[in-house]
Amino acid sequence: MKISIVVPCYNEEDVLKETHRRLMEIDCLGMDREIVYVDDGSTDSTYEILTGLAEGHDNVKVIKFQRNFGHQPAVSAGIAEADGDAVVVIDADLQDPPELISTFIGKWKEGYDIVYGHRVKRKGESIFKRFTAWAYYRMLSFIGGSFIPKDTGDFRLIDRKVADFLNSLTERNRFLRGLTAWAGFRSIGVDYVRDERFAGETKYTLRKMLRLAEDGVTSFSDKPMMLAFSFGAVLTLLSLVMLVLSIIMAAGGNGLGGVYIMGSVMLLILGAILIFVGILGLYISRIYDEVKNRPYYIIEKRINL
Ligand code: UDP
Ligand code: MG
Repeated sequence: MKISIVVPCYNEEDVLKETHRRLMEIDCLGMDREIVYVDDGSTDSTYEILTGLAEGHDNVKVIKFQRNFGHQPAVSAGIAEADGDAVVVIDADLQDPPELISTFIGKWKEGYDIVYGHRVKRKGESIFKRFTAWAYYRMLSFIGGSFIPKDTGDFRLIDRKVADFLNSLTERNRFLRGLTAWAGFRSIGVDYVRDERFAGETKYTLRKMLRLAEDGVTSFSDKPMMLAFSFGAVLTLLSLVMLVLSIIMAAGGNGLGGVYIMGSVMLLILGAILIFVGILGLYISRIYDEVKNRPYYIIEKRINL
């Protein structure tokens, strides 16, 4: 039996050697291991380091992307190329402790299809990041993603059949942790403390975070659109009432008051329309993305694969 460990890497030259050392050291409970590094278009020496690590080691594999496609595409590519009986996804920066993989494998052997890391604490991350992550998972649950385990990332072990399920998907804007939960595989969480980054800076810019957050919402909930509809309906009713009121006021001789009411109602409606056109736009741009049917990522080179 074989375990595949998928590691997405974007400009991780400062951490890779240490990461590799620790990944080779973990106890795989008697399973063979392969490590699949995905170089997500790094501009530093990440690829050179990976080539060095793979040299003379058939079980160290490298996928090089043609450019930076992002974390979720990198993870997807790694899962697609890995052929172990179980696949583990772990960040390159050692924020997720590699030693936990042994526990994951143990749970998998007990019969779970997905064993995910549940972050009980996040060290060395800004209050902003911790708060937005906390709030995001609660919001996601509220609007309909309640099946997605809170405070988890992509650090997890998935069984071969879950990997095959992910590989069979054609959708592009992926929120992997949501998709695996959505499919309803037998899963369990393992608590852990998320460490500080071993070295280097975060590669998840605010823009990339927002993009991921949006994928999570738009691919698992149409509540924002429903909300738009209900809100619009209430506003319309309200403005009708106000219209009647202002007509009565105007009839009573108070012409100016009526004008003011009308003015504010118009503004309110305009604002609401703009907000909801925006929400519609979010979904439409997703549809457009899917319809274009472009590849999710482009692989430039493979080593040992
Ligand atoms: N990553 C990637 N492509 C990107 C951004 C990040 O492959 O465009 C990788 C990165 O190398 C790391 C993992 O995704 O292994 C998580 O990124 P990071 O640690 O920077 O995010 P954070 O932990 O700060 O959320
Ligand atoms: Mg990190």
